[in-house]
Amino acid sequence: MPYGYHGKILHVDLSAQRTWIEEPDAAFYRHYMGGTNFGLHYILNGMAADADPLGPENMLTIMLSPLTGAPFSGQSRMCVNARSPLTGAIGDSQAGGFFPAELKFAGFDGLVITGQAQAPCYLWLHDGQAELRPADHLWGLGAWATETRLREELGDDKVEVACVGPAGERLVRFAAIMNMRNRAAGRTGMGAVMGAKRLKAIAVRGRRRPELADAEGVKAIARLGGKESRANGDMDELGKLGTAGVVLGQEFSGGLPTRNYQSGTFAQAEAISGERMAETILVGRDTCYACVVRCKREVEVDADGIRVHKELGGPEYETIATFGSYCEVDDLNAIAKANALCNDYGLDSISAGATIAWAMECFEAGLLMPEQTDGVALRFGDARAMLQALEALAFRNGALGELLAEGSARAAAQLGPEAQARVVAVKGSELPAHMPQVKRSMGLAYAVNPFGADHQSSEHDTSYEENSGPVSLGRLAELGLTRPVAATDLGEEKVEFTLLTQYWVSLMDVLCLCQFDWGATWQLYGPSAAADVVKAVTGWDVDLNELMTIGARRVNLLKLFNQRAGFTRADDKLPPRLYEPLTGGISDGMVFTRDELEQAKDRYYALAGWDVATGNPTPERLRELGLDNFAE
Ligand code: SF4
Repeated sequence: MPYGYHGKILHVDLSAQRTWIEEPDAAFYRHYMGGTNFGLHYILNGMAADADPLGPENMLTIMLSPLTGAPFSGQSRMCVNARSPLTGAIGDSQAGGFFPAELKFAGFDGLVITGQAQAPCYLWLHDGQAELRPADHLWGLGAWATETRLREELGDDKVEVACVGPAGERLVRFAAIMNMRNRAAGRTGMGAVMGAKRLKAIAVRGRRRPELADAEGVKAIARLGGKESRANGDMDELGKLGTAGVVLGQEFSGGLPTRNYQSGTFAQAEAISGERMAETILVGRDTCYACVVRCKREVEVDADGIRVHKELGGPEYETIATFGSYCEVDDLNAIAKANALCNDYGLDSISAGATIAWAMECFEAGLLMPEQTDGVALRFGDARAMLQALEALAFRNGALGELLAEGSARAAAQLGPEAQARVVAVKGSELPAHMPQVKRSMGLAYAVNPFGADHQSSEHDTSYEENSGPVSLGRLAELGLTRPVAATDLGEEKVEFTLLTQYWVSLMDVLCLCQFDWGATWQLYGPSAAADVVKAVTGWDVDLNELMTIGARRVNLLKLFNQRAGFTRADDKLPPRLYEPLTGGISDGMVFTRDELEQAKDRYYALAGWDVATGNPTPERLRELGLDNFAE
């Protein structure tokens, strides 16, 4: 008898308007365990790597793990994969909220969605049943209105909804899939893939909770989380300030990306900090299913013509930085508005804000002319212009909207080399707000990560310094990391740290665990607890070694997709901006170097068991990871 899962993967062919249920065997669940690994199994076996990301042949997978929906903190997350319309590489994104747990309760462990509907439709999943229904009446609605209408139509306000907004419908290349109106599977354009398929929404509801192998063991883990959330100062602060609590820390370290990554210091950082948000616009805290941390923000604004409703959530650190310091905007109300618009329209707030910051730099440099911006004067510091650009790109309105909806790399290709030199992206995906100049491993992680620059694909350097404290260093030691070095170091020890924590974080994305609850450094639970919880839920006799192999399997599966799509070592590169010295503040003059990156890549590929010349997995490494069928 399976514990923690149903043994049911739902296949949806939108072209044929047909659904069917596959029942993989127990070996499939044990081998892949969940999340991205499930998704890549279907994508690599069922889809050509040159599939048009916005065509019917692209396969969109939404996957859970056996842990999803079990009653402890940090398990209600899902992994979304498809070929990315932003990068052409594999796309990968995660989201939390209540939707993932409810999808499990509706009777499914994951969805494989292919084809393209003739007309808008939505998928209604309830108690093991799947129905495709027309969605013409929902097309054009934002995430909030879509959720409201579906709950009314289905007569149940406990129905959870994942959907695309107007941005996904219009194929904005960094459109997100939203759930709960404010939780985004944001990165790499998965919302554009869903919009291209004319799948407006997925609504879920059910009471099918899989049995747990050791219910008392799961309760003990939940109790431990409750105790730890009160005792752990970092978790307490995350609950009080949300991720916005790191704005000032980033500023103090010279690592708050400012003026399209030209500087690491923003003189008005305090005005956009988590502390300022708590004093002014914060009205409440929200959570994901069964999580005690409650780190999600609820804000309200009604001032100077800006209105923000708490239903659309409050900005996270990344959103504050991309719409704030990247654009030199110090108006927290305007940033909260930008966040709400991204959530309602269904946009990745990192790519959206970073693309606008790039456009501001181009405008000021005379590379983007007023006739190309529909008259919007896109200057750094102008909050109104920032919001106008966001509205335009979400709907592809006018010349400006059409240009920015393509993302900064494609937009720059239309403007020429000087505009391209100002793009701050890897593989076409805009950089998040953790600066490689001050946290060196971020540079390596951004460059080698198969789906582009991502700050949640490995632990951060500051947790692996001599003075990082016994909890972080103790947990990292469980992964075999016992040689702490400075945050600005990118030697052998740091490369090992990058790879092993990438495997660890990959495991989190396989088990669909929240990285704020489950981590190898400061979080609620450490590595040994991960083995305990997998055992308690599934009854599988796993240890940390096996789990780390599962994490490594994910990295290799993602990489395999890119290899087939023609990506090589040369694509694992950083944008030119990172090789220009930073200006101002404590990080003034700090710079990344090409040699440093290439040496780190040599070490990384060798340690990963990959071919150093091509940067791709060797057949031997794939066989070691149990991926024999792909080794050929
Ligand atoms: S820590 Fe925050 S993001 Fe993570 S599960 Fe809890 S409420 Fe959700």
